[in-house]
Amino acid sequence: MAAEQTFVIVGGGMAGAKAAETLREEGFDGRIVLIGAESLRPYERPPLSKDYLRGETEQEKVHVHSEAYYGEHDIDLRLGREVSRLDTGSREVTLDDGETLRYDRLLLATGAEPRRLPIPGADLDGVLYLRTVPDSDRIRERLDRGGSLVVVGAGWIGAEVAASARQRGMEVTIVEPMSVPLERVLGPEMGAFYRDVHADQGVRLLLGTGVEGFEGGTAVERVRTNDGQTLDCDAVVVGVGVKPRTALAEAAGLAMGDGVLADELLQTSAEGVFAAGDVVSAQHPFYGQRIRVEHWANALEQGPAAARNMLGAGAPYDKLPYFFSDQYDVGMEYAGYATSWDRVVVRGDLAGREFIAFWLAGDRVLAGMNVNVWDVTDTIQRLIRERVAIDDRRLADPDVPLDELAGAGSD
Ligand SMILES: Cc1cc2nc3c(=O)[nH]c(=O)nc-3n(C[C@H](O)[C@H](O)[C@H](O)COP(=O)(O)OP(=O)(O)OC[C@H]3O[C@@H](n4cnc5c(N)ncnc54)[C@H](O)[C@@H]3O)c2cc1C
Repeated sequence: MAAEQTFVIVGGGMAGAKAAETLREEGFDGRIVLIGAESLRPYERPPLSKDYLRGETEQEKVHVHSEAYYGEHDIDLRLGREVSRLDTGSREVTLDDGETLRYDRLLLATGAEPRRLPIPGADLDGVLYLRTVPDSDRIRERLDRGGSLVVVGAGWIGAEVAASARQRGMEVTIVEPMSVPLERVLGPEMGAFYRDVHADQGVRLLLGTGVEGFEGGTAVERVRTNDGQTLDCDAVVVGVGVKPRTALAEAAGLAMGDGVLADELLQTSAEGVFAAGDVVSAQHPFYGQRIRVEHWANALEQGPAAARNMLGAGAPYDKLPYFFSDQYDVGMEYAGYATSWDRVVVRGDLAGREFIAFWLAGDRVLAGMNVNVWDVTDTIQRLIRERVAIDDRRLADPDVPLDELAGAGSD
């Protein structure tokens, strides 16, 4: 007679919560323990730099499930509890209060955390980071007070916070060492597009500029840049990227790379231990390499995929990366994965901010970004996945239906 199985999920973010949901949906009737270090039940982070930050959405709306859901589905949700040790030999985790739990399968969904800037003044009051609901509440309180905000880093978080702060009437300065916002992901052309979007909204952009220190009494009053400028401010938001939260896995001796390494089934180097979401660098069947994706849709889809594989489905996770961003009236979706490319082809009206940009290498599309154009993600993904040979002129021509381009070889 088989004893009841215990599946432990470490990390109460999107990936962890959706994995728990999927285990029940798939009929798992053993014990599910979902452990989250935050005191709030699982929630979605995208609104924290957008509508929630601006005070347009209440907290209840950002949660993944209702409060009652976990009880109703017999999911043992432990909030404000951190897993401090993982022993893959005895298949046990230890919680910060000393409790130990034996697992049959474990999911690591510990996510990521903001990189900190180790510079003088970093501890001053008013130097803020954004990952959690309380972080967003703290920044919102600054938005309510008004005044001037310096945003350090023009990645997605920095750009969205800048937009929200501007929309709430703050004076906003972005300081970014690269030559345009979002350059690492989008490259110079589309980074320039976002530069202009912010500049048109009255954001001051100091590009190609680094930050050397924060100054003030107990609270930040000034930002010192590496080209000798001093920027007066009432608050600072630092958005210089995140790093996967890997301490637990590392200490347990799991194979590590850029995150916790996993195979196509999202299984780590330890038997019975899976990983999903921002923390995992998983072998991707389409790309033939490991990739780590720090986006909402990845957590949404990978948590369930890992859960199914914990139940023995044996299904490789092969979704193409996808993410979205909203800044002012500019909404976008990006599909694909491009780390280097030959050129960018634009289809539509760049100046009018309704277009699709494609990143290409040779005659293949690697990624596409639709800006204020909707319902094209599936087609863009088809172009990428089916490695359709592309003629740039037709790709750029809005009179040639995108579906027609993607049609060749499609089902
Ligand atoms: C402000 C903001 C805006 C965003 N906007 C977008 C967007 O517009 N589009 C998009 O695609 N993506 C966006 N993202 C990214 C997206 O939210 C993340 O990719 C997603 O949250 C990853 O989910 P996750 O479950 O893997 O990890 P996380 O959300 O990081 O959750 C992991 C959880 O695990 C907990 N944990 C960690 N270690 C332990 C431990 N040892 N014991 C117990 N618990 C632990 C953490 O406290 C955390 O609650 C945004 C992120 C932020 C912060």
